[in-house]
Amino acid sequence: MSDIINLTAKEIHSGILSKKFKATEVMQSFLDQISAKDKELNSFISLNDKAMEQAQKVDDKVSSGKNIGALGGVPVAIKDMLCTKDLKTTAGSKMLENFIPPYSATVVNKLEASGAIIIGKCNQDEFAMGSSNETSYFGACKNPWDTEYVPGGSSGGSAVAVAARMAPISIGTDTGGSIRQPASFCGVVGIKPTYGRVSRYGIVAFASSLDQAGPFSRTIEDSTLVLESICGHDEFDSTTSSKEVLPWSTKLNDKVEKIKVGLPKEYFEGGLDEDVKKSIDIAKDALKEMGCEFVEVSIPHTKYSVPIYYIIATSEASSNLARYDGVRFGYRANFDDKPAADLIDFYCRNRGEGFGTEVKRRISLGTFTLSSGYYDAYYKKACQVRSLLKQDFEKSFKDCDIILSPVTTTPAFKIGDRISDPITMYKNDIFTTSTNLAGLPGLSLPVTLSKDKLPIGVQLTASAFNESKLLQVAHQMEQLISFKEKPANV
Ligand code: GLN
Repeated sequence: MSDIINLTAKEIHSGILSKKFKATEVMQSFLDQISAKDKELNSFISLNDKAMEQAQKVDDKVSSGKNIGALGGVPVAIKDMLCTKDLKTTAGSKMLENFIPPYSATVVNKLEASGAIIIGKCNQDEFAMGSSNETSYFGACKNPWDTEYVPGGSSGGSAVAVAARMAPISIGTDTGGSIRQPASFCGVVGIKPTYGRVSRYGIVAFASSLDQAGPFSRTIEDSTLVLESICGHDEFDSTTSSKEVLPWSTKLNDKVEKIKVGLPKEYFEGGLDEDVKKSIDIAKDALKEMGCEFVEVSIPHTKYSVPIYYIIATSEASSNLARYDGVRFGYRANFDDKPAADLIDFYCRNRGEGFGTEVKRRISLGTFTLSSGYYDAYYKKACQVRSLLKQDFEKSFKDCDIILSPVTTTPAFKIGDRISDPITMYKNDIFTTSTNLAGLPGLSLPVTLSKDKLPIGVQLTASAFNESKLLQVAHQMEQLISFKEKPANV
Protein backbone atom coordinates (compact mmCIF):
# COMPACT_ATOMS: atom_id res chain seq x y z
CA MET A 1 0.00 0.00 0.00
CA SER A 2 2.74 2.44 0.95
CA ASP A 3 4.12 1.82 -2.56
CA ILE A 4 1.19 3.73 -4.01
CA ILE A 5 2.55 7.06 -2.81
CA ASN A 6 5.72 6.52 -4.81
CA LEU A 7 3.86 6.01 -8.08
CA THR A 8 3.48 8.70 -10.70
CA ALA A 9 0.09 10.18 -11.51
CA LYS A 10 0.11 8.23 -14.78
CA GLU A 11 0.79 4.95 -12.97
CA ILE A 12 -1.91 5.71 -10.40
CA HIS A 13 -4.44 6.44 -13.10
CA SER A 14 -3.70 3.26 -15.03
CA GLY A 15 -3.64 1.20 -11.81
CA ILE A 16 -7.16 2.41 -11.00
CA LEU A 17 -8.35 1.75 -14.55
CA SER A 18 -6.92 -1.76 -14.61
CA LYS A 19 -8.40 -2.42 -11.13
CA LYS A 20 -4.97 -3.08 -9.64
CA PHE A 21 -6.05 -0.85 -6.77
CA LYS A 22 -9.00 1.39 -6.01
CA ALA A 23 -9.20 5.18 -6.07
CA THR A 24 -10.24 5.02 -2.40
CA GLU A 25 -7.09 3.05 -1.55
CA VAL A 26 -5.01 5.62 -3.40
CA MET A 27 -6.62 8.50 -1.56
CA GLN A 28 -6.24 6.76 1.80
CA SER A 29 -2.53 6.15 1.17
CA PHE A 30 -1.89 9.83 0.52
CA LEU A 31 -4.07 10.92 3.46
CA ASP A 32 -2.09 8.55 5.71
CA GLN A 33 1.16 10.06 4.45
CA ILE A 34 -0.19 13.54 5.23
CA SER A 35 -1.12 12.42 8.76
CA ALA A 36 2.35 10.99 9.25
CA LYS A 37 4.43 13.82 7.79
CA ASP A 38 2.59 17.08 7.61
CA LYS A 39 2.64 18.01 11.29
CA GLU A 40 6.29 18.69 10.79
CA LEU A 41 6.30 19.93 7.20
CA ASN A 42 3.19 22.16 7.35
CA SER A 43 2.49 22.01 3.65
CA PHE A 44 -1.31 21.89 3.88
CA ILE A 45 -3.54 24.66 5.24
CA SER A 46 -6.67 22.55 4.91
CA LEU A 47 -7.78 19.16 3.65
CA ASN A 48 -10.78 18.29 1.52
CA ASP A 49 -13.15 16.34 3.77
CA LYS A 50 -15.03 15.11 0.68
CA ALA A 51 -11.93 13.54 -0.89
CA MET A 52 -12.79 9.95 0.08
CA GLU A 53 -16.39 10.36 -1.05
CA GLN A 54 -15.18 11.62 -4.42
CA ALA A 55 -12.72 8.73 -4.70
CA GLN A 56 -15.60 6.32 -4.06
CA LYS A 57 -17.45 7.85 -7.02
CA VAL A 58 -14.45 7.12 -9.23
CA ASP A 59 -14.45 3.51 -8.02
CA ASP A 60 -18.16 3.24 -8.80
CA LYS A 61 -17.52 4.51 -12.32
CA VAL A 62 -14.71 1.99 -12.81
CA SER A 63 -16.99 -0.86 -11.67
CA SER A 64 -19.72 0.18 -14.05
CA GLY A 65 -17.29 0.70 -16.93
CA LYS A 66 -17.79 4.46 -17.20
CA ASN A 67 -15.14 6.92 -18.38
CA ILE A 68 -13.15 8.34 -15.42
CA GLY A 69 -11.21 11.01 -17.35
CA ALA A 70 -7.50 11.42 -18.10
CA LEU A 71 -6.66 12.07 -14.44
CA GLY A 72 -9.45 9.91 -12.99
CA GLY A 73 -8.83 9.16 -9.31
CA VAL A 74 -5.53 11.06 -9.10
CA PRO A 75 -5.24 13.20 -5.94
CA VAL A 76 -4.14 16.77 -6.60
CA ALA A 77 -3.01 19.36 -4.04
CA ILE A 78 -3.96 22.95 -4.82
CA LYS A 79 -2.18 26.13 -3.76
CA ASP A 80 -4.41 28.22 -1.51
CA MET A 81 -4.41 31.02 -4.14
CA LEU A 82 -6.96 29.10 -6.24
CA CYS A 83 -10.61 29.35 -5.32
CA THR A 84 -12.23 26.04 -4.51
CA LYS A 85 -16.01 26.05 -4.14
CA ASP A 86 -17.11 25.37 -0.55
CA LEU A 87 -13.48 24.81 0.48
CA LYS A 88 -11.58 27.47 2.40
CA THR A 89 -9.19 29.55 0.27
CA THR A 90 -6.89 31.78 2.32
CA ALA A 91 -4.08 32.97 -0.01
CA GLY A 92 -1.90 32.31 3.06
CA SER A 93 -3.30 35.40 4.73
CA LYS A 94 -5.22 36.34 7.86
CA MET A 95 -7.14 38.65 5.50
CA LEU A 96 -8.86 35.59 3.94
CA GLU A 97 -8.57 33.24 6.91
CA ASN A 98 -12.25 32.30 6.78
CA PHE A 99 -13.02 32.84 3.10
CA ILE A 100 -15.10 30.07 1.54
CA PRO A 101 -15.46 30.76 -2.19
CA PRO A 102 -18.86 30.32 -3.82
CA TYR A 103 -17.18 29.12 -7.03
CA SER A 104 -14.04 27.35 -8.22
CA ALA A 105 -11.20 28.64 -10.36
CA THR A 106 -11.30 27.44 -13.97
CA VAL A 107 -8.10 25.43 -13.34
CA VAL A 108 -9.85 23.58 -10.51
CA ASN A 109 -12.97 22.96 -12.61
CA LYS A 110 -10.85 21.62 -15.45
CA LEU A 111 -8.89 19.30 -13.17
CA GLU A 112 -12.10 17.97 -11.67
CA ALA A 113 -13.57 17.53 -15.15
CA SER A 114 -10.52 15.33 -15.92
CA GLY A 115 -11.31 13.23 -12.86
CA ALA A 116 -8.61 14.54 -10.48
CA ILE A 117 -9.63 14.79 -6.80
CA ILE A 118 -8.58 17.71 -4.62
CA ILE A 119 -6.84 16.31 -1.57
CA GLY A 120 -6.22 19.65 0.11
CA LYS A 121 -5.09 23.26 -0.09
CA CYS A 122 -1.41 24.09 0.16
CA ASN A 123 0.54 26.52 2.26
CA GLN A 124 2.19 29.47 0.52
CA ASP A 125 3.68 32.88 1.11
CA GLU A 126 1.01 35.44 1.93
CA PHE A 127 -0.71 36.48 -1.33
CA ALA A 128 2.17 34.68 -3.11
CA MET A 129 4.62 37.37 -2.06
CA GLY A 130 7.85 35.71 -1.08
CA SER A 131 10.50 33.15 -1.98
CA SER A 132 10.61 31.04 1.17
CA ASN A 133 7.07 30.40 2.46
CA GLU A 134 8.03 32.26 5.61
CA THR A 135 5.51 35.08 5.01
CA SER A 136 2.53 32.69 5.36
CA TYR A 137 0.08 33.61 8.13
CA PHE A 138 -0.18 29.85 8.75
CA GLY A 139 3.49 29.39 9.60
CA ALA A 140 6.52 28.43 7.56
CA CYS A 141 6.44 25.26 5.51
CA LYS A 142 9.59 23.14 5.73
CA ASN A 143 11.83 21.52 3.16
CA PRO A 144 11.46 17.71 3.39
CA TRP A 145 15.12 17.22 2.40
CA ASP A 146 16.21 19.04 5.55
CA THR A 147 13.64 20.70 7.76
CA GLU A 148 16.04 23.48 8.76
CA TYR A 149 15.78 24.77 5.19
CA VAL A 150 13.05 26.66 3.35
CA PRO A 151 11.15 24.81 0.60
CA GLY A 152 11.19 27.97 -1.52
CA GLY A 153 8.17 30.04 -2.36
CA SER A 154 5.73 31.24 -2.86
CA SER A 155 4.21 27.85 -3.85
CA GLY A 156 6.29 26.04 -1.20
CA GLY A 157 3.44 23.90 0.13
CA SER A 158 2.60 22.62 -3.37
CA ALA A 159 6.25 21.65 -3.99
CA VAL A 160 6.59 19.96 -0.59
CA ALA A 161 3.34 18.01 -1.02
CA VAL A 162 4.78 16.35 -4.14
CA ALA A 163 8.35 15.97 -2.86
CA ALA A 164 7.15 14.33 0.37
CA ARG A 165 4.74 11.98 -1.44
CA MET A 166 1.65 13.61 0.04
CA ALA A 167 0.21 14.09 -3.46
CA PRO A 168 1.43 12.88 -6.87
CA ILE A 169 0.67 16.23 -8.51
CA SER A 170 -0.08 19.75 -7.34
CA ILE A 171 -0.84 23.21 -8.66
CA GLY A 172 1.07 26.40 -7.93
CA THR A 173 1.13 29.92 -9.29
CA ASP A 174 4.17 31.70 -10.68
CA THR A 175 4.38 35.49 -10.86
CA GLY A 176 8.16 35.80 -10.64
CA GLY A 177 9.37 32.26 -10.07
CA SER A 178 6.98 30.82 -7.51
CA ILE A 179 6.63 27.46 -9.26
CA ARG A 180 10.15 27.02 -10.63
CA GLN A 181 12.08 28.11 -7.53
CA PRO A 182 10.33 25.83 -4.98
CA ALA A 183 10.45 22.99 -7.55
CA SER A 184 14.23 23.43 -7.70
CA PHE A 185 14.59 23.64 -3.89
CA CYS A 186 12.44 20.51 -3.36
CA GLY A 187 13.74 18.32 -6.21
CA VAL A 188 10.54 18.11 -8.25
CA VAL A 189 9.39 19.27 -11.69
CA GLY A 190 7.61 22.65 -11.82
CA ILE A 191 6.28 24.34 -14.96
CA LYS A 192 5.14 27.90 -15.63
CA PRO A 193 3.26 27.92 -18.92
CA THR A 194 3.24 30.81 -21.44
CA TYR A 195 1.22 33.78 -20.17
CA GLY A 196 -2.28 33.24 -21.53
CA ARG A 197 -2.12 29.44 -21.69
CA VAL A 198 -3.93 28.96 -18.39
CA SER A 199 -6.98 30.84 -17.16
CA ARG A 200 -6.50 33.13 -14.16
CA TYR A 201 -10.24 33.12 -13.43
CA GLY A 202 -10.79 32.34 -9.77
CA ILE A 203 -7.14 32.71 -8.81
CA VAL A 204 -6.48 35.34 -6.14
CA ALA A 205 -4.80 38.13 -8.13
CA PHE A 206 -1.30 39.26 -7.19
CA ALA A 207 0.12 40.85 -10.37
CA SER A 208 -2.29 40.18 -13.21
CA SER A 209 0.11 40.75 -16.12
CA LEU A 210 2.55 38.19 -14.67
CA ASP A 211 0.49 35.57 -12.77
CA GLN A 212 0.20 32.11 -14.29
CA ALA A 213 -0.77 28.77 -12.75
CA GLY A 214 1.07 25.54 -13.48
CA PRO A 215 1.83 22.02 -12.27
CA PHE A 216 4.30 20.32 -9.92
CA SER A 217 5.01 16.60 -10.26
CA ARG A 218 7.87 14.15 -10.08
CA THR A 219 8.07 13.64 -13.84
CA ILE A 220 7.76 15.83 -16.91
CA GLU A 221 5.18 13.39 -18.23
CA ASP A 222 2.87 13.92 -15.24
CA SER A 223 3.14 17.69 -15.49
CA THR A 224 2.39 17.42 -19.21
CA LEU A 225 -0.80 15.50 -18.45
CA VAL A 226 -1.82 18.24 -16.02
CA LEU A 227 -1.06 20.94 -18.61
CA GLU A 228 -3.23 19.15 -21.16
CA SER A 229 -6.05 19.32 -18.66
CA ILE A 230 -5.68 22.95 -17.46
CA CYS A 231 -4.55 24.89 -20.56
CA GLY A 232 -6.87 26.52 -23.06
CA HIS A 233 -9.09 29.48 -23.77
CA ASP A 234 -11.55 30.53 -21.08
CA GLU A 235 -14.38 32.94 -21.71
CA PHE A 236 -13.96 34.18 -18.12
CA ASP A 237 -10.37 35.35 -18.70
CA SER A 238 -9.92 37.58 -21.73
CA THR A 239 -6.13 37.24 -21.52
CA THR A 240 -6.28 33.51 -22.30
CA SER A 241 -5.15 32.49 -25.75
CA SER A 242 -7.24 30.42 -28.11
CA LYS A 243 -4.11 28.64 -29.39
CA GLU A 244 -4.70 24.95 -29.67
CA VAL A 245 -3.67 22.72 -26.75
CA LEU A 246 -1.87 19.83 -28.41
CA PRO A 247 -1.63 16.27 -27.07
CA TRP A 248 1.89 17.02 -25.82
CA SER A 249 2.13 13.87 -23.73
CA THR A 250 1.95 11.65 -26.83
CA LYS A 251 4.93 13.42 -28.42
CA LEU A 252 7.40 13.50 -25.53
CA ASN A 253 9.59 10.79 -27.04
CA ASP A 254 9.62 12.19 -30.58
CA LYS A 255 13.23 12.68 -31.53
CA VAL A 256 14.29 16.29 -31.07
CA GLU A 257 16.61 17.18 -33.87
CA LYS A 258 19.09 19.97 -34.39
CA ILE A 259 18.09 21.70 -31.17
CA LYS A 260 20.06 24.82 -30.41
CA VAL A 261 20.43 25.58 -26.73
CA GLY A 262 21.10 29.20 -25.84
CA LEU A 263 23.29 30.18 -22.92
CA PRO A 264 22.72 33.86 -22.06
CA LYS A 265 26.15 35.32 -21.44
CA GLU A 266 24.86 37.74 -18.78
CA TYR A 267 23.67 34.81 -16.65
CA PHE A 268 27.11 33.33 -16.40
CA GLU A 269 29.15 36.49 -15.92
CA GLY A 270 30.82 36.71 -12.54
CA GLY A 271 30.74 32.95 -12.04
CA LEU A 272 28.17 30.68 -10.46
CA ASP A 273 27.84 29.09 -7.05
CA GLU A 274 29.74 25.78 -7.14
CA ASP A 275 26.61 23.62 -6.69
CA VAL A 276 24.65 25.58 -9.27
CA LYS A 277 27.55 25.24 -11.74
CA LYS A 278 27.51 21.48 -11.20
CA SER A 279 23.80 21.38 -12.07
CA ILE A 280 24.39 23.31 -15.29
CA ASP A 281 27.27 21.01 -16.25
CA ILE A 282 25.11 17.92 -15.76
CA ALA A 283 22.34 19.47 -17.86
CA LYS A 284 24.82 20.37 -20.60
CA ASP A 285 26.19 16.82 -20.71
CA ALA A 286 22.68 15.44 -21.18
CA LEU A 287 21.89 17.97 -23.89
CA LYS A 288 25.15 17.13 -25.67
CA GLU A 289 24.25 13.46 -25.59
CA MET A 290 20.95 14.39 -27.21
CA GLY A 291 22.91 16.00 -30.04
CA CYS A 292 22.06 19.58 -29.12
CA GLU A 293 24.28 22.45 -30.16
CA PHE A 294 25.12 25.29 -27.75
CA VAL A 295 25.08 28.94 -28.76
CA GLU A 296 25.84 32.04 -26.76
CA VAL A 297 22.92 34.46 -26.64
CA SER A 298 22.54 37.82 -24.96
CA ILE A 299 19.82 39.21 -22.70
CA PRO A 300 21.43 42.60 -22.03
CA HIS A 301 18.57 43.88 -19.84
CA THR A 302 18.96 41.00 -17.36
CA LYS A 303 20.35 43.33 -14.71
CA TYR A 304 17.07 45.25 -14.68
CA SER A 305 14.78 42.25 -14.37
CA VAL A 306 14.62 42.21 -10.55
CA PRO A 307 14.10 45.99 -10.18
CA ILE A 308 11.44 46.17 -12.89
CA TYR A 309 9.72 43.07 -11.60
CA TYR A 310 9.51 44.56 -8.11
CA ILE A 311 8.06 47.79 -9.53
CA ILE A 312 5.50 46.19 -11.85
CA ALA A 313 4.48 43.39 -9.47
CA THR A 314 4.06 45.73 -6.50
CA SER A 315 2.18 48.33 -8.57
CA GLU A 316 -0.30 45.72 -9.77
CA ALA A 317 -0.54 44.25 -6.27
CA SER A 318 -1.34 47.61 -4.71
CA SER A 319 -4.26 47.90 -7.10
CA ASN A 320 -5.41 44.25 -6.87
CA LEU A 321 -5.28 44.20 -3.07
CA ALA A 322 -7.29 47.43 -2.71
CA ARG A 323 -10.45 45.29 -2.65
CA TYR A 324 -9.62 43.90 0.80
CA ASP A 325 -11.13 46.68 2.84
CA GLY A 326 -13.21 44.68 5.30
CA VAL A 327 -16.44 45.92 3.73
CA ARG A 328 -17.16 43.35 1.04
CA PHE A 329 -13.89 41.46 1.07
CA GLY A 330 -11.58 40.29 3.76
CA TYR A 331 -10.92 40.45 7.45
CA ARG A 332 -12.85 42.90 9.58
CA ALA A 333 -11.30 44.08 12.87
CA ASN A 334 -13.29 43.99 16.08
CA PHE A 335 -15.03 47.34 16.43
CA ASP A 336 -17.24 46.34 19.39
CA ASP A 337 -15.08 47.83 22.10
CA LYS A 338 -13.69 50.73 20.13
CA PRO A 339 -15.88 51.85 17.23
CA ALA A 340 -14.20 53.24 14.11
CA ALA A 341 -13.58 57.00 14.34
CA ASP A 342 -14.23 57.39 10.61
CA LEU A 343 -13.99 55.49 7.32
CA ILE A 344 -10.20 55.84 7.12
CA ASP A 345 -9.83 54.45 10.64
CA PHE A 346 -12.12 51.56 9.62
CA TYR A 347 -10.00 50.68 6.57
CA CYS A 348 -6.75 51.15 8.45
CA ARG A 349 -7.69 48.78 11.24
CA ASN A 350 -9.02 46.11 8.86
CA ARG A 351 -6.02 46.28 6.57
CA GLY A 352 -3.52 46.93 9.34
CA GLU A 353 -4.55 43.80 11.22
CA GLY A 354 -5.39 41.63 8.18
CA PHE A 355 -2.17 41.96 6.15
CA GLY A 356 1.31 40.82 7.17
CA THR A 357 4.54 42.81 6.95
CA GLU A 358 5.70 41.73 3.48
CA VAL A 359 2.30 42.41 1.92
CA LYS A 360 2.20 45.86 3.53
CA ARG A 361 5.70 46.58 2.25
CA ARG A 362 4.61 45.69 -1.30
CA ILE A 363 1.37 47.66 -1.16
CA SER A 364 3.33 50.70 0.07
CA LEU A 365 5.96 50.31 -2.66
CA GLY A 366 3.38 49.83 -5.39
CA THR A 367 1.23 52.73 -4.23
CA PHE A 368 4.32 54.93 -4.34
CA THR A 369 5.39 53.81 -7.83
CA LEU A 370 1.88 54.46 -9.18
CA SER A 371 1.39 57.82 -7.50
CA SER A 372 1.29 61.00 -9.55
CA GLY A 373 4.73 62.54 -9.77
CA TYR A 374 6.44 59.13 -9.55
CA TYR A 375 4.42 57.12 -12.09
CA ASP A 376 6.53 58.20 -15.08
CA ALA A 377 9.82 57.72 -13.30
CA TYR A 378 9.01 54.25 -11.93
CA TYR A 379 5.98 52.41 -13.29
CA LYS A 380 6.11 53.77 -16.85
CA LYS A 381 9.88 53.39 -17.04
CA ALA A 382 9.66 49.81 -15.75
CA CYS A 383 7.07 48.98 -18.43
CA GLN A 384 9.38 50.39 -21.10
CA VAL A 385 12.34 48.35 -19.89
CA ARG A 386 10.05 45.30 -19.76
CA SER A 387 9.47 45.72 -23.52
CA LEU A 388 13.22 45.84 -24.09
CA LEU A 389 13.71 42.69 -22.05
CA LYS A 390 11.01 40.98 -24.10
CA GLN A 391 12.82 42.03 -27.27
CA ASP A 392 16.08 40.59 -25.92
CA PHE A 393 14.36 37.22 -25.66
CA GLU A 394 12.75 37.52 -29.10
CA LYS A 395 16.17 38.20 -30.60
CA SER A 396 17.75 35.32 -28.70
CA PHE A 397 15.09 32.89 -29.86
CA LYS A 398 16.06 33.67 -33.46
CA ASP A 399 19.36 31.91 -32.68
CA CYS A 400 18.19 29.13 -30.36
CA ASP A 401 15.20 26.93 -29.51
CA ILE A 402 15.62 26.62 -25.75
CA ILE A 403 17.49 28.65 -23.15
CA LEU A 404 19.31 26.82 -20.37
CA SER A 405 19.99 28.66 -17.12
CA PRO A 406 20.12 28.21 -13.37
CA VAL A 407 16.83 28.60 -11.48
CA THR A 408 18.36 30.48 -8.57
CA THR A 409 21.78 31.70 -7.52
CA THR A 410 22.08 29.14 -4.69
CA PRO A 411 20.31 25.99 -3.46
CA ALA A 412 17.75 26.34 -0.63
CA PHE A 413 18.75 28.57 2.30
CA LYS A 414 18.03 28.13 5.99
CA ILE A 415 14.72 29.19 7.57
CA GLY A 416 15.27 32.61 9.15
CA ASP A 417 18.40 33.44 7.14
CA ARG A 418 16.95 35.98 4.70
CA ILE A 419 13.51 36.93 5.96
CA SER A 420 14.66 40.17 7.59
CA ASP A 421 16.68 41.19 4.52
CA PRO A 422 14.20 41.75 1.66
CA ILE A 423 16.83 42.88 -0.86
CA THR A 424 18.82 39.65 -0.52
CA MET A 425 15.56 37.70 -0.77
CA TYR A 426 14.49 39.62 -3.91
CA LYS A 427 17.88 39.16 -5.62
CA ASN A 428 17.27 35.42 -5.53
CA ASP A 429 14.73 35.99 -8.32
CA ILE A 430 17.25 37.14 -10.94
CA PHE A 431 16.87 34.11 -13.24
CA THR A 432 13.13 33.56 -12.89
CA THR A 433 11.45 37.00 -13.06
CA SER A 434 12.53 37.73 -16.65
CA THR A 435 10.53 34.72 -17.89
CA ASN A 436 7.34 36.19 -16.41
CA LEU A 437 8.12 39.71 -17.59
CA ALA A 438 8.51 38.35 -21.14
CA GLY A 439 5.47 36.03 -20.77
CA LEU A 440 7.44 32.90 -21.71
CA PRO A 441 7.05 29.25 -20.71
CA GLY A 442 9.71 27.95 -18.34
CA LEU A 443 10.33 24.97 -16.11
CA SER A 444 12.61 23.61 -13.46
CA LEU A 445 13.93 20.08 -13.86
CA PRO A 446 15.65 18.37 -10.90
CA VAL A 447 19.22 17.48 -11.72
CA THR A 448 21.43 16.75 -8.72
CA LEU A 449 22.10 17.25 -5.02
CA SER A 450 24.28 19.98 -3.54
CA LYS A 451 27.16 19.35 -1.15
CA ASP A 452 24.61 19.81 1.68
CA LYS A 453 22.43 17.12 0.06
CA LEU A 454 19.78 19.54 -1.10
CA PRO A 455 18.28 19.24 -4.58
CA ILE A 456 18.98 21.68 -7.40
CA GLY A 457 17.10 22.07 -10.65
CA VAL A 458 17.98 23.75 -13.93
CA GLN A 459 15.71 26.10 -15.80
CA LEU A 460 14.67 25.64 -19.42
CA THR A 461 12.84 28.48 -21.17
CA ALA A 462 11.22 28.45 -24.62
CA SER A 463 9.68 31.06 -26.88
CA ALA A 464 6.03 31.96 -26.28
CA PHE A 465 3.60 29.06 -26.87
CA ASN A 466 6.43 26.67 -27.66
CA GLU A 467 5.55 24.31 -24.79
CA SER A 468 5.81 21.38 -27.13
CA LYS A 469 9.57 21.75 -27.70
CA LEU A 470 10.14 22.70 -24.06
CA LEU A 471 8.43 19.55 -22.78
CA GLN A 472 10.11 17.24 -25.29
CA VAL A 473 13.60 18.50 -24.51
CA ALA A 474 12.96 18.40 -20.76
CA HIS A 475 11.49 14.89 -20.88
CA GLN A 476 14.42 13.53 -22.89
CA MET A 477 16.94 15.22 -20.59
CA GLU A 478 15.11 13.75 -17.62
CA GLN A 479 15.56 10.22 -19.00
CA LEU A 480 19.30 10.74 -19.38
CA ILE A 481 19.90 12.53 -16.07
CA SER A 482 17.70 10.05 -14.21
CA PHE A 483 17.48 11.95 -10.90
CA LYS A 484 16.05 9.31 -8.56
CA GLU A 485 16.95 10.70 -5.13
CA LYS A 486 14.23 11.24 -2.56
CA PRO A 487 14.17 12.90 0.85
CA ALA A 488 15.44 10.51 3.54
CA ASN A 489 12.47 10.72 5.91
CA VAL A 490 9.74 10.35 3.38
N1 GLN B 1 9.65 35.56 -5.17
C1 GLN B 1 8.87 36.43 -6.00
C2 GLN B 1 8.15 37.46 -5.18
O1 GLN B 1 8.29 37.44 -3.99
C3 GLN B 1 7.94 35.63 -6.85
C4 GLN B 1 6.63 35.38 -6.26
C5 GLN B 1 5.70 34.65 -7.16
O2 GLN B 1 6.07 34.18 -8.24
N2 GLN B 1 4.45 34.60 -6.75
O3 GLN B 1 7.46 38.28 -5.70
